[in-house]
Amino acid sequence: MELRALIREEVLAQEAYPVEATSCRIKLDANENPLALPSELREGFAALLASVPLNRYPEAGSLALTARFAESFGVDKDQVLIGNGSDELIQILCTALARPGAEVMIPVPTFAMYRITSLNAGFRVAAVPLDEAFDLDLEAMRERIALHPPALIFLAWPNNPTGNCFSAERIEAILAASPGIVVVDEAYFHFSGKTFLPLLERYSNLVILRTLSKVGLAALRIGFLIGPAPLIHELNKVRLPYNLNALSQAAAGFYLDQEAIFLKQAAEVLKGRDELAAALERLPGIRLWPTDANFIYFSCDFDTDHVYRQLLRYGILIKNFGGSPATGGRMRVTVGTQEENLEFIKVLKNILVK
Ligand SMILES: *Cc1c(COP(=O)(O)O)cnc(C)c1O
Repeated sequence: MELRALIREEVLAQEAYPVEATSCRIKLDANENPLALPSELREGFAALLASVPLNRYPEAGSLALTARFAESFGVDKDQVLIGNGSDELIQILCTALARPGAEVMIPVPTFAMYRITSLNAGFRVAAVPLDEAFDLDLEAMRERIALHPPALIFLAWPNNPTGNCFSAERIEAILAASPGIVVVDEAYFHFSGKTFLPLLERYSNLVILRTLSKVGLAALRIGFLIGPAPLIHELNKVRLPYNLNALSQAAAGFYLDQEAIFLKQAAEVLKGRDELAAALERLPGIRLWPTDANFIYFSCDFDTDHVYRQLLRYGILIKNFGGSPATGGRMRVTVGTQEENLEFIKVLKNILVK
């Protein structure tokens, strides 16, 4: 059997999403909340999980949970779809919209899963570089929309890895110009505090993504898609019946019950971010960009591969995007606990001044 002859070309042509397997002491590569579930919540959480009937299938479509989150978003329950992380919701969107010859538009750089999932679904991908301030290149995007209207446009807001929020006016201009769906991915909403939710009524092609991954529950894979009810109706046909397991459904309810505590952690992370940014800024050869998220994107006038490897020798993992020292290699660091941030700065400083 010639296996390669059986696999679709767009799958053969891809690399799997690189999830770092390296073990490390200080993990600052994946934009997770560095703070564990507070000890005073653990007993209640354990009791809740222990009460979940594991012999039964989970509630199909997470109906009770959907109603609760819809209320918290201030929308109708038929405007919300809950997924196994927003990754699954991106996949559901792509599966439903990938008609033959259809195109997805993304700015670059941005979240890697948009491209990977689009290609796997059979989309062509039009990648439009961001401008110098990492904002949307409105002219280039509008030109592309006029030439070949994309079925889907993905905009991470704030953007990953650059950390900034694109200007809201430009996103609105894209919403107005695009006949296709425009996804505003608010994965870092808990840090930016900015949302397009109030614009759902104005734009029938607007879809918003949210997740609990960056605010403390990455392990449980819980994401939300909020959009027009007729679209959700179609997407539900693509969704697997039991996509959110029962433990994650219970945990998502627990999150809503205890949201204030998670938001307090997010506020603590934000405080740490500003301290981390101030310390990074003082290091030689480092330039950073303003961020609305729980991570910092920076350029480094040194060989980033070398910096990355040296950090790892000390057990510190960050994200390396490479690039030449001449133009400034690019790296991204997630805000950790106060101790982790301090140690990261100390070790990085040693590497740079050597
Ligand atoms: C981290 C991240 C997500 C989260 O995906 P989940 O599957 O919900 O964990 C989504 N979008 C962007 C832009 C991200 O950076």
